[in-house]
Amino acid sequence: MNPNFLLSSLILLAGALVLVYLIYAALPAAFLRAENALRFRFSKHPKKELYLTFDDGPDPNYTGKLLDLLAENGIRATFFTVAEFAEQNPELIERMKDEGHSIACHSLSHKCAMFQGPQDTLADLTHTLEIMHGLGVNVRYYRAPWGLYNLTLIRELKRLGIRRVLWNVMIGDWSGRVTVSTLSHRLLARVSSEAVICLHDGRGTDHAPARTIKTLETVLPELKRQGYSFKTFQ
Ligand SMILES: [Zn+2]
Repeated sequence: MNPNFLLSSLILLAGALVLVYLIYAALPAAFLRAENALRFRFSKHPKKELYLTFDDGPDPNYTGKLLDLLAENGIRATFFTVAEFAEQNPELIERMKDEGHSIACHSLSHKCAMFQGPQDTLADLTHTLEIMHGLGVNVRYYRAPWGLYNLTLIRELKRLGIRRVLWNVMIGDWSGRVTVSTLSHRLLARVSSEAVICLHDGRGTDHAPARTIKTLETVLPELKRQGYSFKTFQ
């Protein structure tokens, strides 16, 4: 075979694969993020309300302590749980329900949808919903890991009537290199009316959720003092 023909065929194939990937995952993810940012930026007459949301739990080491803190402050939050972690910690899911928190979904096992084909995406979502239904949770909201959706996930969530949720405020609380003081400053500086705040009660590096909880011990009373109230995705 002519080596030039082989080379141009390979280049063409690689180009076609990149195009498919862009259409299937990269462009939809970028579009949803841009749309979310613009909607928040141009929201008219926002109310002084915040949505406190937690991803990556439940975690037996941290979620209980976080629930204690939320109860002390009379605040309800939305937990975007990883279904396999929820299955391993049913008592924490029960506690969330008993204490009036909203329980939503954050995938089956925290895989990135950008690297999953249609079949894997559907299989993971089906299994996720089976686990959550088994725990008595009717899933109405879904946040994909890293906020990255592919076309299959977008279409299937729409078909099931499950709404996608991204965020407006993120402070890097998963990092092992950030201090409680930095997290507190970032959170207070970035919060504004109707913001969806994304924090983490599981995973992270070097006991990250412990720093998230420590941060909230001082920041939650301060946000209440500033006149903010807290809402959940219901
Ligand atoms: Zn996550």
